[in-house]
Parts: sequence; structure tokens; C-alpha cells
Amino acid sequence: MNYTWLLKSQKKFFYTGVTCDLTFRKRQLKKLRGLITENHEQLCDALEQDFGKPKFEAYGAEIATVLKEIDFHLKNVDKWAKPVTANGSLLTFPSRNKIYPQPRGTTLIISPWNYPVYLSLMPLIGAISAGNCAILKPSELVPNISGTLSALINRVFGQEYIMAANGGVEISKALLKEKFDYIFFTGSNRVGKIVMRAAAENLTPLTLELGGKSPAIVHEDADIEIAARRIWWGKYLNAGQTCVAPDYVVVHEDVRSDFIRESRKVIREFIGEDEEMLNSMTRILNREHFNRLKELVDHSYVVIGGESDHDTRYISLTLVKSAWESTEMDDEIFGPILPMITFKDMDKLISRLQEMPSPLALYLFTSRNKVKQKVIRKIPFGGGCINETVSHLGTPHLPFGGTGSSGFGTYHGKYSFQTFSHLKSILDKPVWPDLPYRYPPYSNKKFSLFKKIFS
Ligand code: NAD
Repeated sequence: MNYTWLLKSQKKFFYTGVTCDLTFRKRQLKKLRGLITENHEQLCDALEQDFGKPKFEAYGAEIATVLKEIDFHLKNVDKWAKPVTANGSLLTFPSRNKIYPQPRGTTLIISPWNYPVYLSLMPLIGAISAGNCAILKPSELVPNISGTLSALINRVFGQEYIMAANGGVEISKALLKEKFDYIFFTGSNRVGKIVMRAAAENLTPLTLELGGKSPAIVHEDADIEIAARRIWWGKYLNAGQTCVAPDYVVVHEDVRSDFIRESRKVIREFIGEDEEMLNSMTRILNREHFNRLKELVDHSYVVIGGESDHDTRYISLTLVKSAWESTEMDDEIFGPILPMITFKDMDKLISRLQEMPSPLALYLFTSRNKVKQKVIRKIPFGGGCINETVSHLGTPHLPFGGTGSSGFGTYHGKYSFQTFSHLKSILDKPVWPDLPYRYPPYSNKKFSLFKKIFS
């Protein structure tokens, strides 16, 4: 495929102005909605083929969420797209001031493998509702779902408007050489740096949705049963292969044994012993990831779990006793293994977390408001939950994104619309009156008057 030519055709189409028309945008969102509802079984089957994602999770986390997001955009896009009147100032008087949300133009969306439908379509919905053209590059690591999704997208949209470029890393590399008006990347920190370097070459603005090690903190006054249940639920989803999964848990030493006891109970409930329960857990993506995760588990430190099955790439929910310096604390785990570290003093824990790379999410389990406020204010992280995990992604009213090394830029709901828009400020000046004080020559008298008014 010649991407230079493809992008040229998208730019030409964009400048016809068709994509800016609100009726057009809404028609395309409805088209996307129809495509997903009509083909959701095919999409769920492809997700199961690639990495054994159970239908419940596939539909709940990838289909239903995307449909809800489309409905939210359909309901609100007219309002979001309206120019907003802004105040002027003494310097600009008299004038009418407005902010026009304008589509950025041609956009590139690169998505990862772990929620391939959700992470491809959520940004695409923002691109469409803000009036852009888009090229989507899904992940080559999940060939069934990327192939299915791309074929569906390319069937309903003209490539001069939206195109899915399915294939290997070389396609991403070729696309990144082109000059897009915006890049939206979701993936690892390693590739995020490559994308940012390529964007810098063309001075292309971008969003980076990256990963990191998201902690769950269990304070001494937490409801331990709820903490264990909700932390393990966050880890169970997609077998821990979720960017906002609790990566590790830091438990107050006074409640450590309670947490272990409750964890044991919860894991037994979630996984059990029988075949059906085992089969309802997503599998590890591939052999390489399976081996990487297995190597992370030192059996002398396993507190719960530690089982695995090579043939089905199954790894059980596993709690391991850990320390800040352990190898499992070096990188994002991205699997069902949960290292547990204990702490004594919240202030010392906060200082340590301040020194670590800012995570995408943080989860705090406590009943004390003072502790909540301290953690929210003092530790840098993208977003998170109190007495819950992962669910902050479930509402279009909360912006989602990282900070520092977990990325920058936000999306979901209105924030997706804003990300894919440029806010164009326009000052509209009447021709009369044309006050002379600002024009040269700048006499001393004018200067004194100016100082008097503006000081
Ligand atoms: P990845 O960075 O390996 O790949 C992401 C995309 O980049 C893929 O489409 C791939 O084709 C492309 N790519 C890979 N190498 C490239 C290169 N050299 N040049 C250009 N493009 C290249 O990520 P992954 O393994 O698919 O996903 C897992 C990572 O993504 C984890 O780190 C996870 O935390 C992160 N993630 C973040 C979010 C978020 O919302 N912040 C969501 C999901 C996953």
C-alpha cells in the first residue's frame, strides 16, 4: 500500500469539508454502531481465538463499552461542536470572542493487542465525532481480531475517509514517516518513545496512552474483604493483561495476614477447581509472554497460586511475597501475578511512590478521608479509584490518560472530542470605533496614559 498516496487522498477528502458536517459525523457514528451490533458475535469469536477471551469479558469490556461511547457522542456532539463565546479584555475592547472546535484533519490511531476492539474504536469514535479522517493500525499480535475488525471497517467506510491498515510493525513504521495532523498511540513505553520521535520529525501533536506499574494500596483501616475481592477482580480481567490492572499491592503490615486470608477465599471463588471455571479466564497472549511471566515467579516466594499450563497458556492468579528491589518490581507485569509488599508508614510510602515513574492508575483502599486526600494530592498518577479498581474507565464523564512516564493527553466522552479537535480562538473586531491610542508614534503622553490604565 502506498501510504503517501492514501494520506493525500484523505487530506483532499478532508478539505472538501464533508467530514465537518455534523449530520455526516452522526451518520458515520451510527454506521459504526450498526457494524458492531451486527457483527458482535464474529468479533467475540475472534477475540476468543486469539487469546481465549471469555464472551462475558469480550462483550462487557469491548463491545458494550464502545456502543455506550457511540451513544454518548451521538447525544452530545452538537453541543460540543458549537463555538463557545469567550470574554474579551480591556486590551481587546471592543471585540466579540469565540472558540471554534475544529477537526485536526488527518489522524493516525495505533492500537495495542490487549483490548483490540475497545482501544481501536474508542479513539476512532473521538476522531469521527470531532470531524476527522483516520487511519487505524491495529496490533499484529492478535491476527484474528485485527483482521476481522479491519475487514469490517474497510467494508463500510471509504478509504479516503477511514481506513484500517492491518499488518505488521513495518506498516506502523511506514505510516509514522507520513505527516499526519494528529497521532493517537496506545501501547508500551518502549514503542511510545519511537512514536514520539517520529512525531517530532514532523512536529505532529500526539497523545500517548502508555503503561506502567499501577499500585493498589491497602491501608490498615480498609475493608479487607472488599479490598481483596476488588483487587483480584482487577487482576482477573483479561488475566491481568490490562494497562490499568493493579500491578502490585502494598499492604499495611497490620492487615497483611487478613489480606492473604481473604485473597485465598476470593481466588478459590473466582477460579475454583473445575474445568468450566478455569476456562472462563483469559489466556496469556502467546508463548513468549507465558515464559516471561513464568520466569517472574520464584516458587519459594509464592503465597497463593503459582500453577500454570504450558499447552493452554494458563497461569493462575498468583500472590507472591515481594520487595521493592525484586525483579518483578522492575517492569509492568501484564499478567495474573500480584507481588505483595508491606508498609508501616504512609508518609514513607508516599515518598517512595513519588520517586517512582508515575503510574497510569493507583487504587487506594481506606475508609479515612484524610488518607484519601493525602494520596490523591501527593502522588502523581494518571487516575484511579478509592475502594475499587479499574472502574474509572467505565464512565464517559471522567477523562482517561496517564501522566509523566504513563503518557499524556486524555480521552473518553467529551475529552475524546477535545483531543481530536483544535480549539481555534477568533477575535472579531468591529471597524468602528478604531481607537487611536495603540497606533504609533508612541509619544510620552500616550505612554503615561497607557500605564495609568493598565497598571
Ligand atoms: P506495543 O507498544 O508493543 O504495540 C502497540 C502498537 O505499536 C502495535 O500496533 C504495534 O504494531 C505498534 N508497534 C510495535 N513496534 C513498533 C515500532 N517499532 N514502530 C512503530 N510501531 C510499532 O504494545 P502492546 O504489547 O501491543 O500492548 C501492551 C502495552 O500497551 C502495555 O505496556 C500496556 O500497559 C500498554 N497499554 C496502555 C493502555 C492505555 O490506555 N494507556 C491500554 C492498553 C495497553
